[in-house]
Amino acid sequence: MEQTLAIIKPDGVSRGLIGEVILRIERNKLKIKAMKLIQMSKTQAQGFYAVHRERPFFQSLTDFMCSGPVVVMVLEGENAIKRWRDMMGATNYKDAAEGTIRRDFATDIEKNVVHGSDAPETAAFETGYFFNALERV
Ligand code: GDP
Repeated sequence: MEQTLAIIKPDGVSRGLIGEVILRIERNKLKIKAMKLIQMSKTQAQGFYAVHRERPFFQSLTDFMCSGPVVVMVLEGENAIKRWRDMMGATNYKDAAEGTIRRDFATDIEKNVVHGSDAPETAAFETGYFFNALERV
């Protein structure tokens, strides 16, 4: 069993896509082990995306991520990291496969509705960034 962090980004929450994303997660038999609605501060968004701090879009990305509430979730299942990323689709929605969340709903390379951890080490860091042991069932 593997765990991964999923986020419904501010664009997904403000556009009323929480239910749609959770429906897809449940249909794909990933288990929700923790979930909450939060609004990150700029500092918290910068800490979360620290690996991207040298990228040209870091300022814009961290502004976007703290611009409104997000839903953060821990998902669990066999191959959960890859399965969730496959459901999300490619970073750029224009390259994302049909039937993926980003292909169906993203409007922009940055405003791409969802986040998912990309490897076991990042999943451990990212789930721990938002949830302590008592917050996971
Ligand atoms: P992900 O793992 O598919 O989310 O992609 P990355 O880790 O490469 O990038 C993290 C997030 O930064 C993406 O989900 C986008 O929201 C944003 N992003 C990635 N590339 C770009 C870009 O070229 N320009 C802008 N403005 N944002 C980007």
